[in-house]
Amino acid sequence: MNEHQRLSLSRRDFLLSTIGATTSLYCSHPLRAFASTNSTRQKAIIITFGGGARDDETFSVDGQQYIPNLLNTLAPQSCFFTQVINRGILGHYVATASIATGAYETFDNFVAQPPAHPTIFEYFRKDLRRPREDAWLIAPGNLFAQMGASHNRRYGPDAGAEVILPKQLLAAALGPQAPQLDAYPDLLRDNYERPDMTAGQNQDQDEMERIVHRLNLDPADLRTQAATLHSPDELSVYMTKHVMRTFAPSLLFLTLHDIDVAHSGAYSLYLEGIRRTDRLCADMWAEIQSNPEYKDKTTLFIMPDFGRDGDNDPGGNGFQHHRTGSASARTTWMMALGPAVRQKTVIERPIESIDLAAAVSGVLGFDAGLVQGKRIPELA
Ligand SMILES: [Zn+2]
Repeated sequence: MNEHQRLSLSRRDFLLSTIGATTSLYCSHPLRAFASTNSTRQKAIIITFGGGARDDETFSVDGQQYIPNLLNTLAPQSCFFTQVINRGILGHYVATASIATGAYETFDNFVAQPPAHPTIFEYFRKDLRRPREDAWLIAPGNLFAQMGASHNRRYGPDAGAEVILPKQLLAAALGPQAPQLDAYPDLLRDNYERPDMTAGQNQDQDEMERIVHRLNLDPADLRTQAATLHSPDELSVYMTKHVMRTFAPSLLFLTLHDIDVAHSGAYSLYLEGIRRTDRLCADMWAEIQSNPEYKDKTTLFIMPDFGRDGDNDPGGNGFQHHRTGSASARTTWMMALGPAVRQKTVIERPIESIDLAAAVSGVLGFDAGLVQGKRIPELA
């Protein structure tokens, strides 16, 4: 048994004992075309449980205390995959872009650039002829600014998503005065691996103003609301709900990132990030249930972008980073919720993080194009 399998079995046993789910080993029945029924009205929301959480602090026996909402509210009604392997580069932007393209991107993680492969936003919009307002990406920082579309000739920016960088929008709303920026330091931290970067840098002011106008956001309201929020991810969820209530997009990709504060080396802040992310995931599910545009027609996917280094990984420093490429850093989980997927089921067959894009194409009924990830037949 290798380390990936050991982690998977640990999650499976824990879930079975805790929620009484049934197991379903991989079966080769023909694909049930769940997307073929009412595909035009189905919606899909992807949340990356980011950035970088280990089993030790989530689905292990010791970690359960930090994820009460995932464990008690969401997992029991989900189709849960115990072994999701990320075989790509373990950098947050390149890994998240790979999830969106369904192909392992290989670009420099610290350079803002479009993905090489078309994104699910482009496949979705082009194949189903959907307007731009039907696909949105809420992203955590400047590096992700071009994640909404590739430069592929057949697809490209004209078929891409609307991209929101919440911190940059807030920075724009606050204006250029430095004293105001100082009042929101935590909300404006752009990147946990590059603390020198703040949200106000490199922003395209015209683009920010266009998005603010498109969202019909009142800068004064945004400033007031932001003062009640405690983290960038709370700001991202606030913006996501605003988009859902305003445009009700069919495809929504929310990238959470608070957990990556672990790079600071403060274990307590890392745990606080996990607790908050757990709460925000439940908050999003509650929003789906309370919004008639989403209730009973939305599939919610929750998956970490990747893990973090194990305590005993040579060359690592425990939870702090994700540099060793060990099983602890590569092996995660995924849950899918909603009427289009099987519920209360635990799947042990290993899948890869890039398979999520193929799953989304199945739910929404669009051609997966150049997606390299594979369909996940156990979902339906
Ligand atoms: Zn990180």
